[in-house]
Amino acid sequence: MNRIFDEEKGGRVLAFGAHPDDLEVGAGGLLARLSDEGADVYMAIVSIPNRAEERRVEARASAELIGADLFILHEEKQCRVEDIPMHELVRRMDQLVGDIRPDLVITHSAHDLHWDHSLVNRATVSALRRTPCDLLAFLSSPEMNAQARSVGQCFADISKTMDKKIEAISAHKSQLSRLDLESSRDLARAMGRISGYQYAEAYEVLRVRI
Ligand SMILES: [Zn+2]
Repeated sequence: MNRIFDEEKGGRVLAFGAHPDDLEVGAGGLLARLSDEGADVYMAIVSIPNRAEERRVEARASAELIGADLFILHEEKQCRVEDIPMHELVRRMDQLVGDIRPDLVITHSAHDLHWDHSLVNRATVSALRRTPCDLLAFLSSPEMNAQARSVGQCFADISKTMDKKIEAISAHKSQLSRLDLESSRDLARAMGRISGYQYAEAYEVLRVRI
């Protein structure tokens, strides 16, 4: 397994998810791995559409498992991403990007079929217009990953953090009836078979500095 960041500098990673649990499903293995490897990892949830208090508590527990700091961009009201004006969303992301100065940003794919998720992709790309950093995108469900042809330009080895990923997804107890933990594991195993790891997550490379 190659280290993504140099051991001394550690690196800063900022991940944007439209809703609580999106980041765990799409990128939980890599985020946990980067944290284990010494990076400062920040998870930013753009909106909480329902059961706000309960889902906030779940998101905090999950971020703690992953070893990340948690931000909720619209903590003051329960809403969907599409309820937030784009300029306001980009402004809040700008602020966070300016404070954190990330080396790597992880966000939703533009090919995500969920409207809120693709809005987050668009806003992230806008917020990074002046920030030199790497940018990876994920699809946030095993079903979408199975259908997508564009995903898979980059594979992250998550063999050591697979169990932690499942644990972090499971922290979203209110959503467990729709979160299929077995599918997440199956998908990571299939991506691992393609890439030569036991378990892997696939990412689209939107910007990378080598
Ligand atoms: Zn979502």
